[in-house]
Amino acid sequence: MSSPSISIVWFRQDLRLADNPALAAACARGGKILPVYILDDETPGSWRPGGASRWWLHESLSSLDRGLEVLGAKLCLRRGKAAEVIGALTKETGASAVFWNRCYEAHAIRRDTNLKANLRDQGIDAESFNANLLFEPWEIKNGQGGPYKVFTPFWKALLAGPAPATPEPPPASVDGLRSVAGDSLADWNLRPDKPDWAGGLRKQWTPGEQGAGQRLDAFLDEAAETYKTRRDQPAESGTSRLSPHLHWGEISPRQVWQTCQRAIATGSVREDAVMAFLRQLAWRDFSHVLIYHWPDFPEKSWKPEYDSFPWRDDEQAFTAWCRGRTGYPIVDAGMRELWHTGWMHNRVRMITASFLIKHLLIPWQRGEAWFWDTLVDADLANNAAGWQWVAGSGADASPYFRIFNPITQGEKFDPQGHYIRRWVPELSKLPNDFLNKPWDAPAEVLTAAGVTLGETYPLPMVDHKAARDRALAGYQEMKKQA
Ligand code: FAD
Repeated sequence: MSSPSISIVWFRQDLRLADNPALAAACARGGKILPVYILDDETPGSWRPGGASRWWLHESLSSLDRGLEVLGAKLCLRRGKAAEVIGALTKETGASAVFWNRCYEAHAIRRDTNLKANLRDQGIDAESFNANLLFEPWEIKNGQGGPYKVFTPFWKALLAGPAPATPEPPPASVDGLRSVAGDSLADWNLRPDKPDWAGGLRKQWTPGEQGAGQRLDAFLDEAAETYKTRRDQPAESGTSRLSPHLHWGEISPRQVWQTCQRAIATGSVREDAVMAFLRQLAWRDFSHVLIYHWPDFPEKSWKPEYDSFPWRDDEQAFTAWCRGRTGYPIVDAGMRELWHTGWMHNRVRMITASFLIKHLLIPWQRGEAWFWDTLVDADLANNAAGWQWVAGSGADASPYFRIFNPITQGEKFDPQGHYIRRWVPELSKLPNDFLNKPWDAPAEVLTAAGVTLGETYPLPMVDHKAARDRALAGYQEMKKQA
Protein backbone atom coordinates (compact mmCIF):
# COMPACT_ATOMS: atom_id res chain seq x y z
CA MET A 1 0.00 0.00 0.00
CA SER A 2 1.67 3.24 -1.05
CA SER A 3 1.94 5.97 1.50
CA PRO A 4 1.26 9.50 0.25
CA SER A 5 3.85 10.84 2.60
CA ILE A 6 7.08 9.34 1.21
CA SER A 7 9.00 10.80 -1.76
CA ILE A 8 12.20 9.54 -3.32
CA VAL A 9 14.67 12.12 -4.64
CA TRP A 10 17.02 10.51 -7.13
CA PHE A 11 20.29 12.48 -7.29
CA ARG A 12 22.31 12.16 -10.52
CA GLN A 13 24.31 15.06 -11.99
CA ASP A 14 22.86 17.49 -9.46
CA LEU A 15 24.86 16.76 -6.31
CA ARG A 16 23.74 19.85 -4.42
CA LEU A 17 21.05 21.10 -2.06
CA ALA A 18 20.54 24.65 -3.36
CA ASP A 19 18.68 25.26 -6.62
CA ASN A 20 17.71 21.63 -6.79
CA PRO A 21 14.11 21.53 -8.06
CA ALA A 22 13.69 17.77 -7.50
CA LEU A 23 14.61 18.13 -3.84
CA ALA A 24 12.52 21.30 -3.53
CA ALA A 25 9.49 19.50 -5.02
CA ALA A 26 9.81 16.68 -2.50
CA CYS A 27 10.09 19.18 0.37
CA ALA A 28 7.08 21.12 -0.89
CA ARG A 29 5.03 17.91 -1.02
CA GLY A 30 5.64 17.30 2.67
CA GLY A 31 6.29 13.99 4.39
CA LYS A 32 9.35 11.81 4.55
CA ILE A 33 12.06 12.03 1.89
CA LEU A 34 14.51 9.35 0.79
CA PRO A 35 17.48 10.86 -1.07
CA VAL A 36 19.13 8.22 -3.27
CA TYR A 37 22.18 7.95 -5.50
CA ILE A 38 22.45 4.92 -7.79
CA LEU A 39 25.66 3.64 -9.31
CA ASP A 40 23.91 2.77 -12.55
CA ASP A 41 25.00 -0.51 -14.14
CA GLU A 42 22.89 0.29 -17.20
CA THR A 43 25.08 3.15 -18.46
CA PRO A 44 26.86 1.93 -21.62
CA GLY A 45 30.32 0.62 -20.73
CA SER A 46 32.30 3.31 -22.54
CA TRP A 47 30.38 6.11 -20.82
CA ARG A 48 30.56 4.87 -17.23
CA PRO A 49 32.53 7.35 -15.13
CA GLY A 50 36.27 7.13 -15.86
CA GLY A 51 38.97 6.93 -13.21
CA ALA A 52 39.19 10.67 -12.42
CA SER A 53 35.40 11.04 -12.44
CA ARG A 54 35.03 8.14 -10.00
CA TRP A 55 37.40 9.86 -7.60
CA TRP A 56 35.38 13.07 -7.88
CA LEU A 57 32.11 11.22 -7.47
CA HIS A 58 33.27 9.62 -4.21
CA GLU A 59 34.24 13.00 -2.73
CA SER A 60 31.12 14.71 -4.00
CA LEU A 61 28.74 12.05 -2.66
CA SER A 62 30.40 12.19 0.69
CA SER A 63 30.02 15.99 0.71
CA LEU A 64 26.35 15.74 -0.33
CA ASP A 65 25.69 13.22 2.44
CA ARG A 66 27.22 15.57 5.02
CA GLY A 67 25.01 18.40 3.72
CA LEU A 68 21.90 16.22 3.89
CA GLU A 69 22.79 15.12 7.43
CA VAL A 70 22.83 18.75 8.55
CA LEU A 71 19.31 19.18 7.15
CA GLY A 72 18.02 15.94 8.70
CA ALA A 73 18.38 13.27 6.00
CA LYS A 74 20.77 10.56 4.92
CA LEU A 75 21.85 9.71 1.38
CA CYS A 76 20.95 6.12 0.49
CA LEU A 77 23.44 4.48 -1.90
CA ARG A 78 22.38 1.63 -4.12
CA ARG A 79 23.96 -0.08 -7.09
CA GLY A 80 22.28 -1.78 -10.05
CA LYS A 81 20.04 -0.95 -12.99
CA ALA A 82 18.46 2.36 -12.03
CA ALA A 83 14.93 1.37 -13.01
CA GLU A 84 15.13 -1.82 -10.96
CA VAL A 85 16.63 -0.04 -7.96
CA ILE A 86 13.97 2.68 -8.01
CA GLY A 87 11.28 0.00 -8.45
CA ALA A 88 12.62 -1.92 -5.45
CA LEU A 89 12.85 1.22 -3.33
CA THR A 90 9.28 2.29 -4.06
CA LYS A 91 8.14 -1.17 -2.94
CA GLU A 92 10.35 -1.23 0.17
CA THR A 93 9.31 2.22 1.35
CA GLY A 94 5.81 2.54 -0.09
CA ALA A 95 6.92 5.82 -1.68
CA SER A 96 4.24 7.49 -3.77
CA ALA A 97 6.45 9.99 -5.60
CA VAL A 98 9.84 9.98 -7.31
CA PHE A 99 11.56 13.21 -8.34
CA TRP A 100 14.72 13.79 -10.35
CA ASN A 101 16.48 16.42 -12.45
CA ARG A 102 16.89 15.76 -16.15
CA CYS A 103 19.99 14.48 -17.98
CA TYR A 104 20.31 14.77 -21.76
CA GLU A 105 22.54 11.87 -22.83
CA ALA A 106 20.67 9.47 -25.15
CA HIS A 107 20.98 6.49 -22.79
CA ALA A 108 19.77 8.57 -19.84
CA ILE A 109 16.77 9.87 -21.78
CA ARG A 110 15.76 6.32 -22.78
CA ARG A 111 16.12 5.04 -19.23
CA ASP A 112 14.28 7.98 -17.63
CA THR A 113 11.42 8.01 -20.14
CA ASN A 114 10.69 4.32 -19.55
CA LEU A 115 10.99 4.69 -15.80
CA LYS A 116 8.64 7.66 -15.69
CA ALA A 117 6.00 5.80 -17.70
CA ASN A 118 6.32 2.66 -15.51
CA LEU A 119 6.05 4.59 -12.27
CA ARG A 120 3.02 6.52 -13.49
CA ASP A 121 1.39 3.27 -14.61
CA GLN A 122 1.68 2.13 -11.02
CA GLY A 123 0.03 5.32 -9.80
CA ILE A 124 3.30 6.76 -8.50
CA ASP A 125 3.88 10.45 -9.09
CA ALA A 126 7.06 10.78 -11.21
CA GLU A 127 8.31 14.26 -12.07
CA SER A 128 11.53 15.58 -13.57
CA PHE A 129 12.96 19.10 -13.74
CA ASN A 130 15.62 21.27 -15.34
CA ALA A 131 18.44 21.82 -12.90
CA ASN A 132 21.58 21.58 -14.98
CA LEU A 133 21.25 23.96 -17.92
CA LEU A 134 20.36 27.60 -18.33
CA PHE A 135 17.82 26.49 -20.94
CA GLU A 136 16.88 23.01 -22.03
CA PRO A 137 17.90 21.85 -25.51
CA TRP A 138 14.44 22.33 -26.98
CA GLU A 139 13.83 25.79 -25.55
CA ILE A 140 15.96 28.03 -27.77
CA LYS A 141 14.89 27.55 -31.38
CA ASN A 142 16.08 29.00 -34.67
CA GLY A 143 13.82 30.79 -37.16
CA GLN A 144 12.56 27.48 -38.57
CA GLY A 145 11.71 26.11 -35.13
CA GLY A 146 14.70 23.72 -35.08
CA PRO A 147 17.90 23.62 -33.05
CA TYR A 148 20.72 26.08 -33.72
CA LYS A 149 23.74 24.51 -35.37
CA VAL A 150 25.96 27.56 -35.00
CA PHE A 151 26.89 28.99 -31.62
CA THR A 152 26.86 32.77 -32.15
CA PRO A 153 23.19 33.02 -33.24
CA PHE A 154 22.34 30.62 -30.41
CA TRP A 155 24.06 32.96 -27.93
CA LYS A 156 22.29 36.00 -29.40
CA ALA A 157 18.93 34.23 -29.14
CA LEU A 158 19.70 33.25 -25.54
CA LEU A 159 20.45 36.87 -24.66
CA ALA A 160 17.37 38.15 -26.47
CA GLY A 161 15.01 35.83 -24.58
CA PRO A 162 13.89 35.81 -20.97
CA ALA A 163 16.62 35.60 -18.33
CA PRO A 164 17.41 32.15 -16.92
CA ALA A 165 15.13 31.14 -14.04
CA THR A 166 16.01 32.48 -10.61
CA PRO A 167 17.83 29.84 -8.54
CA GLU A 168 16.14 28.56 -5.40
CA PRO A 169 17.82 28.54 -1.97
CA PRO A 170 18.44 25.18 -0.25
CA PRO A 171 15.59 23.78 1.86
CA ALA A 172 15.69 24.74 5.56
CA SER A 173 15.34 21.09 6.51
CA VAL A 174 14.76 17.68 4.90
CA ASP A 175 12.57 15.23 6.79
CA GLY A 176 14.64 12.19 5.90
CA LEU A 177 13.52 8.58 5.83
CA ARG A 178 16.51 7.06 7.61
CA SER A 179 15.55 3.42 8.00
CA VAL A 180 16.39 2.25 4.45
CA ALA A 181 19.55 0.19 4.07
CA GLY A 182 22.09 1.16 1.45
CA ASP A 183 25.66 0.43 0.39
CA SER A 184 28.66 1.94 2.05
CA LEU A 185 30.43 4.47 -0.17
CA ALA A 186 33.81 2.90 0.60
CA ASP A 187 32.57 -0.45 -0.76
CA TRP A 188 32.05 1.10 -4.19
CA ASN A 189 35.83 1.48 -4.49
CA LEU A 190 35.55 4.69 -6.46
CA ARG A 191 38.85 6.00 -5.13
CA PRO A 192 42.07 4.56 -6.54
CA ASP A 193 43.80 2.32 -4.12
CA LYS A 194 46.76 0.39 -5.48
CA PRO A 195 48.32 2.60 -6.64
CA ASP A 196 46.71 5.71 -5.17
CA TRP A 197 47.28 8.12 -8.06
CA ALA A 198 44.83 10.75 -6.78
CA GLY A 199 47.33 12.85 -4.75
CA GLY A 200 47.45 15.57 -7.42
CA LEU A 201 43.65 15.65 -7.60
CA ARG A 202 43.28 16.02 -3.83
CA LYS A 203 45.76 18.89 -3.84
CA GLN A 204 43.96 20.74 -6.61
CA TRP A 205 40.25 20.30 -5.91
CA THR A 206 37.56 20.56 -3.24
CA PRO A 207 34.61 18.58 -4.64
CA GLY A 208 31.18 19.41 -3.26
CA GLU A 209 28.72 22.27 -3.10
CA GLN A 210 30.76 24.37 -0.72
CA GLY A 211 33.92 23.99 -2.80
CA ALA A 212 31.96 25.01 -5.90
CA GLY A 213 30.64 28.18 -4.25
CA GLN A 214 34.10 29.11 -3.02
CA ARG A 215 35.52 28.60 -6.49
CA LEU A 216 32.95 30.93 -8.05
CA ASP A 217 33.57 33.59 -5.38
CA ALA A 218 37.33 33.33 -5.84
CA PHE A 219 36.94 33.65 -9.61
CA LEU A 220 34.77 36.76 -9.28
CA ASP A 221 37.18 38.32 -6.77
CA GLU A 222 40.43 37.48 -8.49
CA ALA A 223 40.06 36.60 -12.17
CA ALA A 224 36.74 37.68 -13.70
CA GLU A 225 37.90 41.23 -14.40
CA THR A 226 40.80 39.99 -16.55
CA TYR A 227 39.01 36.95 -18.04
CA LYS A 228 39.08 38.27 -21.58
CA THR A 229 42.81 38.84 -21.67
CA ARG A 230 44.04 35.98 -19.45
CA ARG A 231 41.65 33.14 -20.33
CA ASP A 232 43.92 31.87 -23.08
CA GLN A 233 47.09 31.71 -21.00
CA PRO A 234 47.53 28.31 -19.40
CA ALA A 235 50.15 29.49 -16.91
CA GLU A 236 47.65 31.91 -15.36
CA SER A 237 44.71 31.22 -13.06
CA GLY A 238 42.64 33.15 -15.55
CA THR A 239 39.53 30.96 -15.80
CA SER A 240 37.05 29.75 -13.21
CA ARG A 241 37.91 26.01 -13.08
CA LEU A 242 34.25 25.47 -12.34
CA SER A 243 33.89 22.75 -14.99
CA PRO A 244 33.92 19.67 -12.70
CA HIS A 245 31.59 21.40 -10.24
CA LEU A 246 29.21 22.22 -13.09
CA HIS A 247 29.42 18.74 -14.57
CA TRP A 248 28.53 17.10 -11.26
CA GLY A 249 25.89 19.71 -10.56
CA GLU A 250 27.46 20.97 -7.35
CA ILE A 251 26.56 24.42 -8.59
CA SER A 252 23.92 25.21 -11.19
CA PRO A 253 24.53 27.38 -14.24
CA ARG A 254 21.58 29.49 -13.03
CA GLN A 255 23.42 30.16 -9.77
CA VAL A 256 26.53 31.11 -11.72
CA TRP A 257 24.48 33.36 -14.00
CA GLN A 258 22.70 35.10 -11.15
CA THR A 259 25.86 35.59 -9.05
CA CYS A 260 27.57 37.13 -12.08
CA GLN A 261 24.62 39.44 -12.79
CA ARG A 262 24.71 40.57 -9.17
CA ALA A 263 28.43 41.27 -9.44
CA ILE A 264 27.74 43.40 -12.53
CA ALA A 265 24.87 45.23 -10.79
CA THR A 266 27.00 46.07 -7.74
CA GLY A 267 29.80 47.26 -10.00
CA SER A 268 32.31 44.79 -8.55
CA VAL A 269 33.25 43.55 -12.05
CA ARG A 270 32.95 45.01 -15.53
CA GLU A 271 29.99 43.82 -17.56
CA ASP A 272 31.99 43.01 -20.71
CA ALA A 273 34.41 40.82 -18.73
CA VAL A 274 31.66 38.83 -17.04
CA MET A 275 29.64 38.51 -20.25
CA ALA A 276 32.69 36.96 -21.96
CA PHE A 277 32.69 34.36 -19.18
CA LEU A 278 28.92 33.76 -19.40
CA ARG A 279 29.30 33.30 -23.14
CA GLN A 280 31.54 30.31 -22.43
CA LEU A 281 28.97 29.01 -19.98
CA ALA A 282 26.45 29.14 -22.83
CA TRP A 283 28.72 26.88 -24.93
CA ARG A 284 27.85 24.27 -22.33
CA ASP A 285 24.15 24.65 -23.12
CA PHE A 286 24.97 24.57 -26.85
CA SER A 287 26.88 21.28 -26.47
CA HIS A 288 23.79 19.83 -24.84
CA VAL A 289 21.69 20.99 -27.80
CA LEU A 290 24.02 18.94 -30.01
CA ILE A 291 23.83 15.69 -28.04
CA TYR A 292 20.10 16.03 -27.50
CA HIS A 293 19.20 16.60 -31.15
CA TRP A 294 21.94 14.32 -32.56
CA PRO A 295 22.05 11.49 -29.99
CA ASP A 296 25.02 9.70 -31.59
CA PHE A 297 27.10 12.92 -31.55
CA PRO A 298 29.50 11.50 -28.89
CA GLU A 299 30.33 8.53 -31.10
CA LYS A 300 29.96 9.60 -34.74
CA SER A 301 31.28 12.49 -36.77
CA TRP A 302 28.46 15.00 -37.20
CA LYS A 303 29.71 15.51 -40.76
CA PRO A 304 29.67 11.88 -41.95
CA GLU A 305 32.42 12.36 -44.55
CA TYR A 306 34.93 12.44 -41.66
CA ASP A 307 34.32 8.73 -41.13
CA SER A 308 36.05 8.10 -44.45
CA PHE A 309 39.10 10.19 -43.48
CA PRO A 310 42.29 8.10 -43.86
CA TRP A 311 42.81 7.75 -40.10
CA ARG A 312 45.84 5.85 -38.80
CA ASP A 313 45.92 3.09 -36.28
CA ASP A 314 49.15 3.79 -34.40
CA GLU A 315 49.16 2.47 -30.86
CA GLN A 316 52.68 3.60 -30.08
CA ALA A 317 51.93 7.17 -31.15
CA PHE A 318 48.71 7.17 -29.12
CA THR A 319 50.56 6.01 -26.00
CA ALA A 320 53.25 8.67 -26.45
CA TRP A 321 50.50 11.31 -26.68
CA CYS A 322 48.70 10.01 -23.58
CA ARG A 323 51.90 10.01 -21.57
CA GLY A 324 53.04 13.48 -22.64
CA ARG A 325 56.06 12.19 -24.55
CA THR A 326 55.49 13.57 -28.06
CA GLY A 327 58.58 15.77 -28.08
CA TYR A 328 56.42 18.91 -28.46
CA PRO A 329 56.68 20.68 -25.10
CA ILE A 330 53.27 22.44 -25.05
CA VAL A 331 51.51 19.18 -25.99
CA ASP A 332 53.44 17.22 -23.37
CA ALA A 333 52.80 19.87 -20.71
CA GLY A 334 49.05 19.66 -21.33
CA MET A 335 48.91 15.88 -21.25
CA ARG A 336 50.89 15.81 -18.02
CA GLU A 337 48.73 18.51 -16.42
CA LEU A 338 45.74 16.33 -17.29
CA TRP A 339 47.29 13.22 -15.76
CA HIS A 340 48.31 14.95 -12.53
CA THR A 341 45.34 17.21 -11.88
CA GLY A 342 42.42 15.70 -13.83
CA TRP A 343 42.01 18.97 -15.70
CA MET A 344 43.61 20.76 -18.64
CA HIS A 345 43.41 24.37 -19.70
CA ASN A 346 41.01 24.98 -22.62
CA ARG A 347 43.66 26.42 -24.95
CA VAL A 348 45.86 23.39 -24.35
CA ARG A 349 42.90 21.00 -24.79
CA MET A 350 42.62 22.46 -28.30
CA ILE A 351 46.36 22.16 -28.99
CA THR A 352 46.68 18.58 -27.71
CA ALA A 353 43.49 17.46 -29.47
CA SER A 354 44.63 19.03 -32.74
CA PHE A 355 47.99 17.29 -32.40
CA LEU A 356 46.37 13.87 -31.95
CA ILE A 357 43.91 14.32 -34.80
CA LYS A 358 45.99 16.22 -37.32
CA HIS A 359 49.65 15.53 -36.57
CA LEU A 360 49.11 11.87 -35.70
CA LEU A 361 45.92 11.24 -37.74
CA ILE A 362 44.38 9.28 -34.89
CA PRO A 363 40.55 9.36 -34.81
CA TRP A 364 39.09 12.00 -32.49
CA GLN A 365 37.05 9.34 -30.67
CA ARG A 366 40.25 7.85 -29.19
CA GLY A 367 41.25 11.18 -27.70
CA GLU A 368 37.72 11.71 -26.48
CA ALA A 369 37.89 8.37 -24.66
CA TRP A 370 41.23 9.23 -23.03
CA PHE A 371 39.87 12.57 -21.85
CA TRP A 372 36.77 10.76 -20.60
CA ASP A 373 38.92 8.57 -18.38
CA THR A 374 41.29 11.23 -17.09
CA LEU A 375 39.25 14.46 -16.76
CA VAL A 376 37.48 15.28 -13.50
CA ASP A 377 35.08 17.36 -15.63
CA ALA A 378 34.50 14.59 -18.22
CA ASP A 379 31.15 15.49 -19.70
CA LEU A 380 29.60 13.66 -22.59
CA ALA A 381 28.25 16.81 -24.25
CA ASN A 382 31.21 19.15 -23.71
CA ASN A 383 33.84 16.53 -24.41
CA ALA A 384 32.26 15.37 -27.67
CA ALA A 385 31.62 18.95 -28.77
CA GLY A 386 35.23 19.91 -27.96
CA TRP A 387 36.68 16.99 -29.90
CA GLN A 388 34.40 17.41 -32.90
CA TRP A 389 35.11 21.14 -32.91
CA VAL A 390 38.84 20.53 -33.17
CA ALA A 391 38.43 17.67 -35.68
CA GLY A 392 36.36 19.90 -37.95
CA SER A 393 33.69 17.21 -38.06
CA GLY A 394 31.22 18.88 -35.68
CA ALA A 395 28.56 21.55 -35.89
CA ASP A 396 30.09 25.05 -35.94
CA ALA A 397 33.53 23.42 -35.92
CA SER A 398 36.94 24.84 -36.60
CA PRO A 399 37.73 23.98 -40.26
CA TYR A 400 39.90 20.86 -40.63
CA PHE A 401 42.61 22.76 -42.47
CA ARG A 402 43.13 24.99 -39.42
CA ILE A 403 45.99 22.99 -37.95
CA PHE A 404 47.35 24.29 -34.65
CA ASN A 405 51.10 24.80 -34.83
CA PRO A 406 52.32 23.42 -31.50
CA ILE A 407 55.44 25.56 -31.62
CA THR A 408 53.89 28.97 -32.24
CA GLN A 409 50.89 28.20 -30.02
CA GLY A 410 53.28 27.56 -27.13
CA GLU A 411 55.25 30.72 -27.89
CA LYS A 412 52.12 32.84 -28.13
CA PHE A 413 50.11 31.58 -25.18
CA ASP A 414 52.92 30.65 -22.77
CA PRO A 415 55.40 33.39 -23.69
CA GLN A 416 57.42 33.17 -20.47
CA GLY A 417 57.35 29.37 -20.55
CA HIS A 418 56.01 29.09 -16.99
CA TYR A 419 53.42 26.46 -17.98
CA ILE A 420 55.89 24.28 -19.87
CA ARG A 421 58.53 24.57 -17.16
CA ARG A 422 56.00 23.54 -14.54
CA TRP A 423 54.81 20.39 -16.31
CA VAL A 424 57.93 19.45 -18.28
CA PRO A 425 60.57 20.13 -15.65
CA GLU A 426 63.29 18.35 -17.60
CA LEU A 427 63.25 21.37 -19.97
CA SER A 428 63.09 23.99 -17.22
CA LYS A 429 66.58 25.31 -17.82
CA LEU A 430 66.16 25.81 -21.56
CA PRO A 431 66.00 29.48 -22.59
CA ASN A 432 62.62 30.72 -23.84
CA ASP A 433 63.85 30.93 -27.43
CA PHE A 434 64.16 27.14 -27.60
CA LEU A 435 61.60 26.02 -25.07
CA ASN A 436 59.01 25.17 -27.72
CA LYS A 437 61.53 23.70 -30.18
CA PRO A 438 64.36 22.13 -28.20
CA TRP A 439 65.59 20.36 -31.35
CA ASP A 440 66.66 23.74 -32.74
CA ALA A 441 68.84 24.57 -29.72
CA PRO A 442 72.61 24.48 -30.31
CA ALA A 443 74.40 21.59 -28.63
CA GLU A 444 76.01 23.83 -26.02
CA VAL A 445 72.63 25.30 -25.03
CA LEU A 446 71.18 21.82 -24.59
CA THR A 447 74.19 20.72 -22.56
CA ALA A 448 74.00 23.79 -20.33
CA ALA A 449 70.29 23.06 -19.75
CA GLY A 450 70.98 19.41 -18.96
CA VAL A 451 68.90 18.22 -21.93
CA THR A 452 69.87 15.23 -24.07
CA LEU A 453 67.24 14.84 -26.76
CA GLY A 454 66.10 11.27 -27.17
CA GLU A 455 67.21 10.55 -23.60
CA THR A 456 66.11 13.13 -21.03
CA TYR A 457 63.35 14.41 -23.33
CA PRO A 458 61.96 12.80 -26.52
CA LEU A 459 62.84 13.94 -29.99
CA PRO A 460 59.74 15.24 -31.81
CA MET A 461 57.73 12.20 -32.90
CA VAL A 462 56.73 13.88 -36.18
CA ASP A 463 58.07 16.83 -38.12
CA HIS A 464 55.52 19.65 -37.89
CA LYS A 465 55.59 20.64 -41.55
CA ALA A 466 55.56 17.09 -42.88
CA ALA A 467 52.70 16.18 -40.52
CA ARG A 468 50.77 19.25 -41.59
CA ASP A 469 51.18 18.39 -45.27
CA ARG A 470 50.10 14.80 -44.59
CA ALA A 471 46.99 15.96 -42.76
CA LEU A 472 46.03 18.33 -45.57
CA ALA A 473 46.55 15.55 -48.13
CA GLY A 474 44.24 13.31 -46.07
CA TYR A 475 41.67 16.09 -46.03
CA GLN A 476 41.80 16.38 -49.83
CA GLU A 477 41.41 12.61 -50.15
CA MET A 478 38.37 12.68 -47.88
CA LYS A 479 36.85 15.53 -49.91
CA LYS A 480 37.30 13.54 -53.13
CA GLN A 481 35.43 10.60 -51.64
CA ALA A 482 32.61 12.68 -50.20
P1 FAD B 1 35.79 28.80 -17.90
O1 FAD B 1 36.52 29.47 -19.00
O2 FAD B 1 35.87 29.41 -16.56
O3 FAD B 1 34.28 28.66 -18.38
C1 FAD B 1 33.18 28.51 -17.46
C2 FAD B 1 32.38 27.27 -17.78
O4 FAD B 1 31.83 27.34 -19.08
C3 FAD B 1 33.20 25.99 -17.77
O5 FAD B 1 33.36 25.51 -16.46
C4 FAD B 1 32.40 25.08 -18.66
O6 FAD B 1 31.33 24.47 -17.96
C5 FAD B 1 31.82 26.04 -19.68
N1 FAD B 1 32.70 26.07 -20.85
C6 FAD B 1 33.80 26.81 -21.06
N2 FAD B 1 34.31 26.57 -22.28
C7 FAD B 1 33.51 25.66 -22.86
C8 FAD B 1 33.51 25.02 -24.13
N3 FAD B 1 34.43 25.27 -25.07
N4 FAD B 1 32.53 24.13 -24.38
C9 FAD B 1 31.57 23.86 -23.48
N5 FAD B 1 31.53 24.44 -22.26
C10 FAD B 1 32.48 25.33 -21.95
N6 FAD B 1 34.50 20.87 -20.86
C11 FAD B 1 33.92 20.10 -19.92
O7 FAD B 1 33.26 20.63 -19.02
N7 FAD B 1 34.04 18.75 -19.95
C12 FAD B 1 34.75 18.11 -20.93
O8 FAD B 1 34.79 16.87 -20.94
C13 FAD B 1 35.40 18.90 -21.91
N8 FAD B 1 36.17 18.33 -22.87
C14 FAD B 1 36.77 19.13 -23.83
C15 FAD B 1 37.55 18.51 -24.82
C16 FAD B 1 38.18 19.29 -25.79
C17 FAD B 1 39.01 18.62 -26.87
C18 FAD B 1 38.04 20.68 -25.77
C19 FAD B 1 38.71 21.54 -26.81
C20 FAD B 1 37.26 21.30 -24.79
C21 FAD B 1 36.62 20.53 -23.81
N9 FAD B 1 35.84 21.12 -22.78
C22 FAD B 1 35.24 20.33 -21.84
C23 FAD B 1 35.55 22.57 -22.80
C24 FAD B 1 36.52 23.46 -21.99
O9 FAD B 1 37.85 23.15 -22.29
C25 FAD B 1 36.32 23.35 -20.48
O10 FAD B 1 34.95 23.48 -20.15
C26 FAD B 1 37.08 24.47 -19.76
O11 FAD B 1 38.45 24.38 -20.04
C27 FAD B 1 36.85 24.34 -18.27
O12 FAD B 1 37.62 25.26 -17.57
P2 FAD B 1 36.96 26.42 -16.73
O13 FAD B 1 35.90 25.86 -15.84
O14 FAD B 1 38.06 27.16 -16.06
O15 FAD B 1 36.29 27.28 -17.87
